[in-house]
Amino acid sequence: MKKLIADKTVGKLAKWLRILGIPCEMQEIKSLKEIPKEAILFTRSRRIASSQTILLESDKVEEQLKFVFEKLPELKGQIKPFSLCLRCNQKLEPVSKEEVFGLVPDYIYETFGYFKRCPLCGRIYWPGSHQKRMSSALKSILAVKEAQE
Ligand SMILES: [Zn+2]
Repeated sequence: MKKLIADKTVGKLAKWLRILGIPCEMQEIKSLKEIPKEAILFTRSRRIASSQTILLESDKVEEQLKFVFEKLPELKGQIKPFSLCLRCNQKLEPVSKEEVFGLVPDYIYETFGYFKRCPLCGRIYWPGSHQKRMSSALKSILAVKEAQE
């Protein structure tokens, strides 16, 4: 799979892809030369439109997400929510419940039996932390699927 990069015009899109478990770097790209080979750049800036660029017309992240899945349908098979750190784009590692005691709010500790941790920033995640944000993203992806069938 090609490396995905979002520039600062579509930072929110990168975050949503991470919520869905699809790695996407955030990087400021000022010219075509700065796009690494074998990478795809998401941007709203026409100035850097190229064969490696996916130009997003909409400023709404739901529509951007829909467009990305239309352009790169293979990404749908990679959806794995609750697998990436939203901050670092790193793969989360499972961590035992005992280890997160005191590191998450008490009601979270009581509610969930399964936690993950980012190896880079140490942030703790639990299933609900992604699910809440995901609902509308998922809805828009399902709408794409329905339209194709
Ligand atoms: Zn992290």
